[in-house]
Amino acid sequence: MGQTIVVAGGAGFLGSHLCRLLLAQGNRILSVDDLSTGRDQNIEDLRLNPQFSFLKHDVRQPLSVNEHVDAVCNLASPASPPAYMAEPIFTLQVGSRGTENLIELAMAHNARFLLASTSEVYGDPTVHPQPETYWGNVNPIGPRSVYDEAKRYAEALSAAYERSHGLTFRHVRIFNTYGPSMQPDDGRVVTNFIAQAINGQPLTVYGDGTQTRSFCYVSDLVDGIARLLFSDVTGPVNIGNPGEFTMIELAKMVLRITGSNSELIYSDLPVDDPMQRQPEITRARTLLGWEPQIALEEGLQRTIAYFKELGKT
Ligand code: NAD
Ligand code: UDP
Repeated sequence: MGQTIVVAGGAGFLGSHLCRLLLAQGNRILSVDDLSTGRDQNIEDLRLNPQFSFLKHDVRQPLSVNEHVDAVCNLASPASPPAYMAEPIFTLQVGSRGTENLIELAMAHNARFLLASTSEVYGDPTVHPQPETYWGNVNPIGPRSVYDEAKRYAEALSAAYERSHGLTFRHVRIFNTYGPSMQPDDGRVVTNFIAQAINGQPLTVYGDGTQTRSFCYVSDLVDGIARLLFSDVTGPVNIGNPGEFTMIELAKMVLRITGSNSELIYSDLPVDDPMQRQPEITRARTLLGWEPQIALEEGLQRTIAYFKELGKT
């Protein structure tokens, strides 16, 4: 029998893909979202499914559900640096109050609770690649801290409920993920480069472009989250693709796949921008049998095709 699962942030990029996968696996989904960075369009197809329902709600306010809930997944939070830096207090409140409200919802139903944390808890890492045992290198008062520290607090709060109140806690640390349903103007590097290349504009490289990221395609990511949600695995699990690229390598790949002649233009590196990032995924491999399947080249081809199609509508 399928489970009833609340997905907070369920109209966002990752949340909508997660809802789609969990529905396909036979579960019933209540997607909760305030549509601050998410879009109705992301869940248009899901609304046709009688096993899917949507509630417009700000998780900074308490939430009750009048039917049994088996699991609560917390993906609600602004996620792109321009989005969270534009709403610093909101971001801190979503990570703190919002997470507490969703944990209380899970506790009320004796449901499991999954927190979508982030590689940002590792900050600008001094250990490379980053295993789950690394405690991170985060500036607690810099412009990125509103996101990084909100997620670190959300982790601490969930772990405290697990220790003190027996919360069944599933804990994923997500590394940079991309794919269809991202907003073309959300400000993250993959969307910026693709939109710029398609529109014949220069690609905006921040810093000298030698900083690295490891990009995971969305179908791999939500597969990892679903495996973790239904597993008995406790403690943090990194989910991400270990393939590591400089931003210049990413820009050149996007130019090649789109056939664009756009130039690269350089500007200052944002404050506290991490210089390197690569997930150490032994735990995901051994405990969940999870392995990313889609290489960056293929994932970019699919994402570029999606954005080209979007441009026609
Ligand atoms: P997104 O912005 O597309 O999705 C976030 C969703 O949360 C949006 O639909 C937004 O409307 C919703 N939301 C925000 N504040 C809310 C509130 N107060 N109440 C209810 N809903 C609210 O971003 P995403 O990339 O899909 O990220 C989803 C989650 O995964 C976030 O928690 C993010 O921190 C985490 N994450 C994402 C990545 C990534 O690369 N995409 C990496 C690490 C962590
Ligand atoms: N970046 C860039 N050009 C852009 C947007 C981002 O060079 O138009 C850089 C950014 O400075 C960072 C990397 O790309 O070093 C990844 O940025 P993103 O915002 O996608 O994710 P995050 O910094 O949260 O990993």
